[in-house]
Amino acid sequence: MNLFYAPDLKSSQEQVPLSGPEAHHIQRVFRKRSGEQIRLTNGKGLLATCTIQSADRGSVTCLVDQLETIAPLAEQSIVVGLALIRPNRMDWAIEKLTELGIGCIQPITFQHSSVRQFKHQHLQNIAVAAMKQSGQAYMPKISPLLDFKEWLSTSKREKNHLLLVAHPGASAVSLSELPADSSNGATILIGPEGGFSEEEVAASKSENFQQISLGQHILRAETAAIVAVSQLKMRLGL
Ligand code: SAH
Repeated sequence: MNLFYAPDLKSSQEQVPLSGPEAHHIQRVFRKRSGEQIRLTNGKGLLATCTIQSADRGSVTCLVDQLETIAPLAEQSIVVGLALIRPNRMDWAIEKLTELGIGCIQPITFQHSSVRQFKHQHLQNIAVAAMKQSGQAYMPKISPLLDFKEWLSTSKREKNHLLLVAHPGASAVSLSELPADSSNGATILIGPEGGFSEEEVAASKSENFQQISLGQHILRAETAAIVAVSQLKMRLGL
């Protein structure tokens, strides 16, 4: 059953009115008519199975048949601090990271970042589409763009949370070499095409980030982000 996005969906709701792009998607793209069933999610764990009551031009009203609260998966404790990369590559990264089901994507500008274009709403729309397509009731939070120094000094660190920086080099280890622990999720930093500056590597080290190698090849940032998350999911047993 097709899944659609209703950000304002509440657990007490019996009737859900939809308009704008989502109503268009239901009526024009999926050609759903009244009497048909669809699923709705608010992207925060609520999942409703609904029957379309009415579908008029630009507006759809759904009646909730069944409402479930999906418990958050452990993979939502993964945060990716991703360097701002070229728009089409950023779009790809957001789509794939959403499919993998993580908790948060933090776009960051580093000293060697050359890209400046950041369209927050556009990236959120990509995450919505990827969440729907992959049938999930959770969508990663896409945080506003931050400068690395600012992010490092303001971000909150939870207890037992693994802090990692993807940066191959003499002191880097692979994720499988890290000693086993009962970690409560992880944050991993992925640098820009120009790599991290010496200063940034040192700053992350002094905040207890461990250097991680993702293999012998130099990957593009967006590939590194996907590889890092899939390796992390294996390590966290997800
Ligand atoms: N010219 C840059 C390469 C940057 S690749 C340099 O020499 O550092 C973009 C980012 O992807 C890197 O900053 C790193 O975070 C990640 N990355 C790419 N390949 C990697 C690998 N084999 N191991 C760990 N991180 C990697």
